[in-house]
Parts: sequence; structure tokens; C-alpha cells
Amino acid sequence: GPEYVRAIAPYQAGKPIAEVAREFGLDEANIVKLASNENPFGVPESSRHAMAMAVSELGRYPDANGFELKAALAERYEVPAEWITLGNGSNDILEIAAHAFVQAGQSVVYSQYSFAVYALATQGVGARAIVVPAREYGHDLEAMAKAITTDTRLVFIANPNNPTGTFIAPAEIEAFLDLVPSSVVVVLDEAYNEFLSPELQFESAQWVRKYPNLLVSRTFSKAYGLAGLRVGFAIAQPALTDLMNRIRQPFNVNSMAQAAAIAALNDKAFLDKGAANNAAGYCQFVEAFEEMGLEYVPSFGNFVLVRVGDDDGAGARVNLALLKQGVIVRPVGNYDLPRWLRISIGLARENAVCIGALKKALS
Ligand code: PMP
Repeated sequence: GPEYVRAIAPYQAGKPIAEVAREFGLDEANIVKLASNENPFGVPESSRHAMAMAVSELGRYPDANGFELKAALAERYEVPAEWITLGNGSNDILEIAAHAFVQAGQSVVYSQYSFAVYALATQGVGARAIVVPAREYGHDLEAMAKAITTDTRLVFIANPNNPTGTFIAPAEIEAFLDLVPSSVVVVLDEAYNEFLSPELQFESAQWVRKYPNLLVSRTFSKAYGLAGLRVGFAIAQPALTDLMNRIRQPFNVNSMAQAAAIAALNDKAFLDKGAANNAAGYCQFVEAFEEMGLEYVPSFGNFVLVRVGDDDGAGARVNLALLKQGVIVRPVGNYDLPRWLRISIGLARENAVCIGALKKALS
């Protein structure tokens, strides 16, 4: 295989519950998984119903163009349906963007400590990554603008960012977009947007009208509770979505997923419940960290990054101590944050189990 493929470090996903149960001799029912920023309420009831209805259609191929889902999204975000591209999760969107806009030897800019798939998407097309040092664990947009070279074709920005949970104010992003040459596509990855408090949510989807090189990426995996179905989408002007549609797999979003996503999109009660639980759970963790004297990065997502020691073995060591107690969180050594753990916010009961296990692990 190509050298650039062999150079890719494999993505580290959260350990599955069944595997941890077997490895540590635990009962699956007692395991708490707060590792993949999933929705603790699981699948919305409205989506379950829509999927039950969709079962009888599984003998047919899905709608290759996602007509109904795109129509629902177009209405929600007030853009024409042609401005939307669907993805098999937003990871697919990120990869499609790299394939559509970058060729081998060109460069892609992203921040240190930003989402791992940016590196995979970049390396997967044989492009060169320009990784810009973080500022207070978040994006340094000024430095990122300066890092753009004549061969840069793509910039990835995560807002809020994973794994650090940092947030960039809208005005800062607009100032950045004003600086970026139009030949560079900016992917604004807003996987966690729905967790922002209402005063921080802003209509970034509307910016695509003003910026022809902007692509906003969203997902149904987090706030909408459909991670296992794999549905994400991009909003951008048709010059961009047209290219993306040419190289994506024609049936990349299956019919169950399309039906479930439409239902979830209209399930405001589910989103509200999730947002309230997340805000309360975040306070629960932060209070515990303060009590334990642990440093954490203030988070705007459904997870929080906490420093569990002063040596580079700390993250792996505390992670193992948590696993033995049936608590799965995410070590972030692969992000060059070996002293930290990323903990997803769950139900109050799950958070309490995690906090208890963390106290025990650190005592
Ligand atoms: N972007 C960010 C910043 C993420 O944290 C994630 C999930 N880990 C994704 C995109 C991809 O999520 P999905 O493919 O499930 O939509």
C-alpha cells in the first residue's frame, strides 16, 4: 500500500461494553460507559417508531439522494435542499470533504488537540497536515489563518472541540472566514452544537450564504441519540455539495437511518431533555473535580476533559483502575494528552458511579 496509508495511526474508539465485561470478569449490566460522547437516553421514541415503519422498505435500496431527510433539513436550516450532502455519520462528511477538495501533496490545516478523524481524512488522501499549536486547549484561529499556505485546500475547525470541549465565539469564526482565501474550504464541524446553551447557539448554517468556501458539518450521533445508525450532513453552497455528491457512495445513508433522523429532527422534547440532563451532569462532574482538586478544561460539549495526574502514565493508569471498576471512559494519549481522561456526561446515576470510581482510583 501507499506509504501515506501505512503512516496512519489507527483510530482508537471507546472500548465496547461486552469486551470490558469479558476482560475484567464483570457483569455487562453493571458497566457504565462514558467513553464515546453518546446520548445517555439512547434512541428517541419517535425514531424507534419511524424505524419500525421503515422495516418493510428494507428490501429496496435507500433513497440515494435522501430526498425526504434533505427536505426536512432544508426547512430546518432555511437553505435549499441542494445545499445539503448526507453522510454515513459526520465522519463520512469529513472524509468526503477531503476526497472532494484535496489531492495528494496539498495541505490541510487543523489544530493540535482537535478531532482525530481530521488527521485520518488528511492522510487518507495523501495530503500534508499542518497542525497548529492549540491555545488554552482550543483553536488559535489567528495562528491557523497564518499557517495557510498556497497549497492549502482545507481547514478543519471543531466547535465545540473534541476532546477538549473548548468553544470559539461566532465573531471570532467570522473574522477567520474573512481572512481565509476563497480557494480554501473551511469545514466547521459542529457535532456538539445542540449542547450549547441557547444564547451561544448561532445560525452558522446561514453563514454559508455569505461564505462560498464554508461547509458546516452536523451529526445525528450526539444530541439526537442516533450514533449507531450513522447519519451526518453538510451544509454548503451547491458548488461544494455537488462535488461531494459525485464522490460519496450513492447509498451511504441507509433507509432506517434516514427515517429515524427525520423523526429525531422534529423531536424537540428529546433534545430539550438531553440538553437539561447534560447541563446538570456537567455541574455534577465539575463539582466533584473541584472537590478532588482536579484540573479540568471548561467544556461546551457533552463530555469533559480532566487531568488525573502529573506524569505521562497517569491517563492509562487511572483508565485501567476505572475499567476494573466497570467504568469505561476515554484515554486521550493518542491526542498527546497522556495525563488526561475524557469523560462523557451520562445520566446522574452513571455520573455518580464514575465519580465514585475516580475517587477510589485516585486514593
Ligand atoms: N466531529 C467531532 C468533533 C466528533 O467528536 C465526532 C464524534 N466523535 C464526529 C465529528 C463524528 O461523529 P459521527 O461520525 O458519529 O457523526
